[in-house]
Amino acid sequence: MKGQVTVIVAAGGSSSRMGFDKLFCPIGGKSALRRSVEAFCGRPDVRGVVVAARRERLKDVEKELEGLPDILAVTAGGAQRQDSVLAALAVCPDTPYIAVHDAARPFVSREVIDRVFQKAFETGAAAPAVPVKDTVKYAPGGEWVKETPDRRTLYAVQTPQVFRVDLYRRALQSAQGREATDDCMLLEAAGIPVALSEGDYANYKITTPEDIPKEVRPMRVGHGYDVHRLTEGRELILGGEHIPFEKGLLGHSDADVLTHAVMDALLGAAALGDIGMHFPDSDPAYAGADSVQLLKKVAALLRQKGWRPVNLDATIVCQRPRLAPWLPAMRERLAAALALSPDGVNIKATTEEGLGFTGSGEGVAAHCVAMLEKSAPGEKETLVERRRL
Ligand code: MG
Repeated sequence: MKGQVTVIVAAGGSSSRMGFDKLFCPIGGKSALRRSVEAFCGRPDVRGVVVAARRERLKDVEKELEGLPDILAVTAGGAQRQDSVLAALAVCPDTPYIAVHDAARPFVSREVIDRVFQKAFETGAAAPAVPVKDTVKYAPGGEWVKETPDRRTLYAVQTPQVFRVDLYRRALQSAQGREATDDCMLLEAAGIPVALSEGDYANYKITTPEDIPKEVRPMRVGHGYDVHRLTEGRELILGGEHIPFEKGLLGHSDADVLTHAVMDALLGAAALGDIGMHFPDSDPAYAGADSVQLLKKVAALLRQKGWRPVNLDATIVCQRPRLAPWLPAMRERLAAALALSPDGVNIKATTEEGLGFTGSGEGVAAHCVAMLEKSAPGEKETLVERRRL
């Protein structure tokens, strides 16, 4: 059977516990309402979706759902949940099943929907549920515990709740006026058995502001590359480490080719140009400069622009000397300069098998990729920085 279910999304809640409209709060760029409706669009077993909303929000809801396929109608809901569902039911096409879903459950998965649909097709009435994690106390009045029900018998019920339409109509009739916090209650009251299917803890209902997941923060990647010539009479400095060798790198600063590639990757990710722009080699201030100090300036600049490093991965291309023993110290030093934990920094060394300018020992090259994320508003320092204070 194709399209045997009409979905009613109940979007009539007053959000009084939130202090703002939870249905329109953005979650990863989409509203909770749109996500809750979208979960049912395009399913072969769904005829379409009817959304029941508060009368004064009808226009907003229609606008919010613009472009989604399978929307059959947006109807004005009533004061109570059943009234909204009833109003929606009146415009539903003639399908054998209806599914009632909370608009404030935007994280419902395809699997949860598959399972509850299947269960309802077998039994006539089903709802997804999860075992309760906390011990639940029965305390009428809220002051004294009267008893503790056996937790193994308790389940938290979710939506979508799926019913054969004739059973649901019969339950609605016999419930006349009685208040129900979910649709299963109506059937239970009418003596109609309701089966449970496997729900998902992720399919929770947004009720208070803490339930809204933090926005996924924007991230950026950047790439850095640098080369310096090896020459006699200079110190070899890589990642801030002084490495004993008969030659060193030539440059206006300390010519720390690794740290330069790291800075360029970070500046690149933040679209802030390159180190030549920030620390020009025509400026005598940077003659012999300690590149790790310059890296700290780059880190400060990133913070000022609202970016913070997530991680970086660098490769030094060098025929001689062997750098492996120095890599852990470089990693620590660069991580500290960026207020990152050492596992946010990876440094590798390779040779080019004697080929090219690195192979002949004429120079050393370094590559780096870095990732940045946008700091949260008001966030002044990273966790690592806080730990260091
Ligand atoms: Mg350089």
